[in-house]
Amino acid sequence: MKNNQKNKNSKVGPLSNGMEKIVSLAKRRGFIFPGSEIYGGLANSWDYGPLGAELINNISNLWWKKFVQQRSDVVGLRGPIIMNPKVWEASGHVKNFTDPLVECKICHIRLRADKQTELKDHAETHKGKEVTWTDPKNFNTLFETYIGTVEDSKLKAYLRGETAQTMFTDFKLVLESMRKKLPLGIAQIGKAFRNEITTGNFIFRTKEFTIAELEYFIAPGEDDKAFEEWLEYQQNFFVSDLGLKKENIKIVELPKDGLAHYSKRTVDTYYNFPFGWDEVAGIANRTDYDLKNHIELSGANLSYKDPVSEKEFVPYVIEPTFGLDRIMLAVLLDAYSESEARSGKEDAVHENEITLRLPKQLAPIKIAVLPLSKKEELTQPALEILNNLQKNWMCQYDETGSIGKRYRRQDEIGTPYCVTVDFETINDQAVTVRDRDTMKQERIKISELVVYLKALL
Ligand SMILES: [Zn+2]
Repeated sequence: MKNNQKNKNSKVGPLSNGMEKIVSLAKRRGFIFPGSEIYGGLANSWDYGPLGAELINNISNLWWKKFVQQRSDVVGLRGPIIMNPKVWEASGHVKNFTDPLVECKICHIRLRADKQTELKDHAETHKGKEVTWTDPKNFNTLFETYIGTVEDSKLKAYLRGETAQTMFTDFKLVLESMRKKLPLGIAQIGKAFRNEITTGNFIFRTKEFTIAELEYFIAPGEDDKAFEEWLEYQQNFFVSDLGLKKENIKIVELPKDGLAHYSKRTVDTYYNFPFGWDEVAGIANRTDYDLKNHIELSGANLSYKDPVSEKEFVPYVIEPTFGLDRIMLAVLLDAYSESEARSGKEDAVHENEITLRLPKQLAPIKIAVLPLSKKEELTQPALEILNNLQKNWMCQYDETGSIGKRYRRQDEIGTPYCVTVDFETINDQAVTVRDRDTMKQERIKISELVVYLKALL
């Protein structure tokens, strides 16, 4: 029963070469688990474990800091997943948010008409039988839901397909309550949903995902310049803030006929995944498309009057957007490194050792506190140190196994610093601080430890 359920739901292709190691590490070390696993799972659903939750929060906070808090021309907001369904009529999603699907005439499975490889792969499963497909038909990828409990009073609504729409519907409220002028950016991080047929590749393509979006409102005519500026700011985030290797990042200008229904120009950012280059972020010129449609359908006044020229207009919008789950996958892959045993012979192992070389600000655990032995004369000062460090950083305490093994466990999850309490500590009131990347060890007085680590983290 369980297995049947699993087979029915898991329309997932094999994970591409190079992904297996990350998938396995992520599960083994508490980053990412298969969703609802005790019930046989659910295709393309993943749970972020304790370390995954820390990691995506760190990525999300870094984004918020750079795109909201460090800019005087951007403010944030937090809208609901379910909005008035009219929002999605105005935005064009009810009409245009579609995938072209074809149906296999043998088994009636529906697949994306524009994904040639998947169609070919499917045809092969029918082993030599000639597979024919129906003509492509458009299926809406908005997730439908119903509000209300009584059958005949149920109102059809949608789970949001993007977070951007709150920024359009609340544009005037934000502008006035915050006493802002154009140019003005409004940003939001949250879940969005797409009832897609094509899913897979671990957390890369899922039906629900976290996106970080920014709508930058400007006067018409200033859009091309703003587009270039945000594109540069966006690239800077990937390389300088997230620390992704330059050679693993590229930008791709979308051809005019590949643009979303609202876009005048779109440039996507691609990451070099083991399954090929694919999108992690984008930037679109949405023009005045959304605001104009909301004005038309709602009758609300969403135009802007310039306080100096007194000219009134409907603003243009530049939208940098980021898929945070995909970015988390890119961050994990980029940080993953393997080397031959490097921890010294007493702990030499035969398999390669894994180090996640995460940027310090992204590492889920910043410091591990390790008493050399389980004797109370060491664990007691170690726990005191832990208590003190936890006021500033996410820490982990580990007293089991050889010290070499414990270092390796921390390397595997990307912990930048290990603090070891040994028998010398009792005499010199000092500990050893080990650096993940250089493996250098330094003796630091306990009284100076916080200051020392603050300079590093
Ligand atoms: Zn078939």
